[in-house]
Amino acid sequence: MRKPGDAIEDAGIVAETADHLEEAYRRYEEALGIAPYIPTNRERIEVVFYDLPNGARGAASPPDGPIQLNSRLWKAMPGIRQATAAHELFHKVQYAVGFRRSWPEFKENDVLKWFSEGTASWAEVRCVSRVSDANKISELFARPDYGLFRASYGSTPFWIHFETLLKGAGRDGVKDFLERIRDTGDPAKAIEEALADLPDGSPRNVEALYQSFVRAALFGRWQTLTTGELLYASVFGPDDKSIEPTLITERHDLVRGQTYKRADLLERMAADVYEFTVPTDAPVGFRLTVAVKPNARFDVQVLHRVKDGEPQTASAERSGDTHGWSSAKLPEGTSWVAIILTCYTRNGSYTLNAAIE
Ligand SMILES: [Zn+2]
Repeated sequence: MRKPGDAIEDAGIVAETADHLEEAYRRYEEALGIAPYIPTNRERIEVVFYDLPNGARGAASPPDGPIQLNSRLWKAMPGIRQATAAHELFHKVQYAVGFRRSWPEFKENDVLKWFSEGTASWAEVRCVSRVSDANKISELFARPDYGLFRASYGSTPFWIHFETLLKGAGRDGVKDFLERIRDTGDPAKAIEEALADLPDGSPRNVEALYQSFVRAALFGRWQTLTTGELLYASVFGPDDKSIEPTLITERHDLVRGQTYKRADLLERMAADVYEFTVPTDAPVGFRLTVAVKPNARFDVQVLHRVKDGEPQTASAERSGDTHGWSSAKLPEGTSWVAIILTCYTRNGSYTLNAAIE
């Protein structure tokens, strides 16, 4: 039943929206080689305006249903139109490769949102270099500990990082990924297959990819190509402002003779990042122990920088205890040490001790 609030009276807005959808359709078909899904026995995708609840900008499910666009927000926030059109139409591209149609049913509700909403939001960036909500870009930077698999729309920069890595190898990451996920419906597996023939030292699976994303995010290089250019020169929010996310880290000044201690809990596919300043008046012996809950799987990455030089990976050696790491002797002049803890299992608790001597 249509309500008065559903209507868009301005024919110019309707025509503009049609242009955005047609342009996105053309781009997906040409660049990805995948036409958005249209139900058999239909010739077109139906598009309707509704006064949708809960601030949703649009909706595109079930697969056979119409694309629904939020008439109220459409009028109030012109900056969302182009990105939302690209986003909702990309859900139809997902249906074309089997999502919600031929893939096995998901056991957990919402379990694939990091794929479905993440890649549809990534498509906004890919298609029009903007997103309908700046949080889609900034959320994972503000909360690296939230967990990629819980992140939904917020997983967008992770997908851009994935695309950046593949682009560096001369491949189209979006196209590559969609071709691989078509048969399996398993995003992690499709990522692993796409990464398989990248150069040595590249991440090989979704876990290593998340770790490499966090590291790239720390240095603001999550979308920097091997040539030094940015994959997307700018990503704009609905207010036409460029979004420049900064990774939120735990910062602390290390003092000789004092141990920094921290105990915390991490979600699956989540990270905590610590940054320490180090006094540069003498050579630095750096002691780090990270004890993690038995059966929890973690990665610990230690980075250091001499003065204003490039960050380097410090050799953090695993101690005899498989749940601990330690490292020592950083070069003279080391002024900064960072620790990236990435957890791959649920409710991974850890304690971290860091000290200089
Ligand atoms: Zn969506």
